[in-house]
Amino acid sequence: MSAAGKAEGPDQHAAAGAGHAPAEARAGRPRVAVIGAGLTGLATAYHLRDEAEVTVFDAAERVGGQILTSELAGAPLDVGADAFLARQPEAEALVRSVGFGDDDLVAPATGRVHLWVGGRLRPLPDATVLGAPTSLRAVARSRALGPAGLVRAAAEPLLPRRHVAGDRSVADLIGERFGREVVQTLVEPLLGGVYAGDTELLSASATVPPVWAAARDHRSLTAGLRAHRARTAGDARPVFLTLRQGLGALTGRLRDHLGDRVRTGTRVTGLARVGSRWTLTTVAAAPTLAEGRPGTVTYDAVVLTVPAVVAADLLRTIDAEVAREFAGIRTASVGVIALAYDPADARSVPDGSGVLVPKSEGRLVKAVTVSSRKWPHHHDHDGSFRLRASVGRVDDPAALELDDATLAERVDAEVRLALRLRHPAKERTVVRWPGALPQYEVGHLARVDRIRYALAERLPGLQIGGASLDGVGLAARARDAGRLAHEVRHHLGTSVR
Ligand SMILES: Cc1cc2nc3c(=O)[nH]c(=O)nc-3n(C[C@H](O)[C@H](O)[C@H](O)COP(=O)(O)OP(=O)(O)OC[C@H]3O[C@@H](n4cnc5c(N)ncnc54)[C@H](O)[C@@H]3O)c2cc1C
Repeated sequence: MSAAGKAEGPDQHAAAGAGHAPAEARAGRPRVAVIGAGLTGLATAYHLRDEAEVTVFDAAERVGGQILTSELAGAPLDVGADAFLARQPEAEALVRSVGFGDDDLVAPATGRVHLWVGGRLRPLPDATVLGAPTSLRAVARSRALGPAGLVRAAAEPLLPRRHVAGDRSVADLIGERFGREVVQTLVEPLLGGVYAGDTELLSASATVPPVWAAARDHRSLTAGLRAHRARTAGDARPVFLTLRQGLGALTGRLRDHLGDRVRTGTRVTGLARVGSRWTLTTVAAAPTLAEGRPGTVTYDAVVLTVPAVVAADLLRTIDAEVAREFAGIRTASVGVIALAYDPADARSVPDGSGVLVPKSEGRLVKAVTVSSRKWPHHHDHDGSFRLRASVGRVDDPAALELDDATLAERVDAEVRLALRLRHPAKERTVVRWPGALPQYEVGHLARVDRIRYALAERLPGLQIGGASLDGVGLAARARDAGRLAHEVRHHLGTSVR
């Protein structure tokens, strides 16, 4: 199954036709095009829906982008994002504003995570900030590090401070203080899950901001991280939340609010300036649609929320410099393999919401979410023990080069080995997410500043958001949507009204 999604039925709001005016067009309202109906685009359009004639375009036949609730063993299963950070308010605020309430929100039933190292499951020490230790004793207890790695990490408070101007890689910053083994065993698997990235290249300021700030403000990183933990300790709120129905319910609800403003199955292939306004060229993605010929419409503002490679393509003839900036943002392709086992097999599985596998272990699987334990509200459908394994790293395409059947087979075998399950999965689904995860490499934040500056200076009426720039998490996406809507309002208030 591809990420374009077979999980939802045929599109109910299929392209009304490129070149047609929005169904609810009313004289005097500015027109805004939002390109991309992932969470960023949908939420931006939702915020603007009463102030402007908004049209949302998505090349796929469904909305949601990297949010997709599928089905496994008769119960809903998120096969893209499966939770949002609740300690930042924006995603939860969005969820509530579209009508979900306390009964719809669920926190993970367990937060314990294991590491699969040296062929054994070890508890991931919770005394870390994004893998960087705050207590060596807790790290030692977990037995995740070998003796040499532990001794090296213990030396951190004694090391002299080193001032480094500018950004650094995660491996450079944390490795210098705690040693390589901490990076490889504790930090890499955590960042591997979020970015599928290479710690030697990922930017410390963009991907581990609390660690970056602790290193900047303290002589000892351990002391800085302890201060950070002390500031956040005592917050009783859950770290993550999801929707009981699956996160597809959120993007589905946003779509319901937007109605026929959403044109799925409509790829934007061109963007051009006409005086102070913008035109799009669109083409129906499904060649069988009668409206498949390209067309153009004029908009007062355009919001791009597409992956970096698409933004680069659309901007090439408009601003070569900004296009180059987007072309420089690499992405990682990942895959999710959903597996359902006989519940009788599950007794051997240790309590916890998941397992992380350091890259140095040389496995295909990089993480396992034990869905039946993490989200037990779905457990009762046919009693299956359900989990999802993820594969794919930016520098290692091997897993995704396998065909679906082989990939599922090999992942199933690794998961059985890690969790000591005796029998093969009775149901397996492969979902591929090509080019999904942007890599915030060293210098990323400066790149984002250059892009924002160029947009403000040279491209009025064009806003660019989405996960490529500032935050892959859903809370960051919801925050970005608020910012994009604000920028559009500002532009329309000054240039149209
Ligand atoms: C497997 C996986 C698991 C994840 N887990 C989590 C998690 O648990 N928690 C969390 O917070 N985050 C998670 N994330 C990250 C999060 O899901 C994404 O960062 C976020 O959903 C991205 O939203 P977006 O709107 O920026 O982009 P997208 O969701 O990628 O949406 C972009 C949209 O643009 C459309 N598009 C592309 N080209 C065109 C074109 N030419 N014309 C029109 N439309 C176009 C695409 O079809 C797509 O729908 C996960 C991501 C993946 C892949």
